[in-house]
Amino acid sequence: MSAFKCPNCGKTTGGNEKFCIDCGQPFNISCPECGEGWRFMYEYKFCPACGHNMKKANATKPQPEQKKA
Ligand SMILES: [Zn+2]
Ligand SMILES: [Zn+2]
Repeated sequence: MSAFKCPNCGKTTGGNEKFCIDCGQPFNISCPECGEGWRFMYEYKFCPACGHNMKKANATKPQPEQKKA
């Protein structure tokens, strides 16, 4: 397992986590079109399995928890 950097907050995780231990960013998501699961598909513009445009999915990604002041 290689280290995986959270694309949302930059926290380095061990690579096994399904969610960022720091901000809760999900690392494994599924294509809404074909249901194929991928490692953090937010980096993908299109689903590698079916070509579904992932930009829409990216727009609806959950907002990270606001940092407490
Ligand atoms: Zn994070
Ligand atoms: Zn797909």
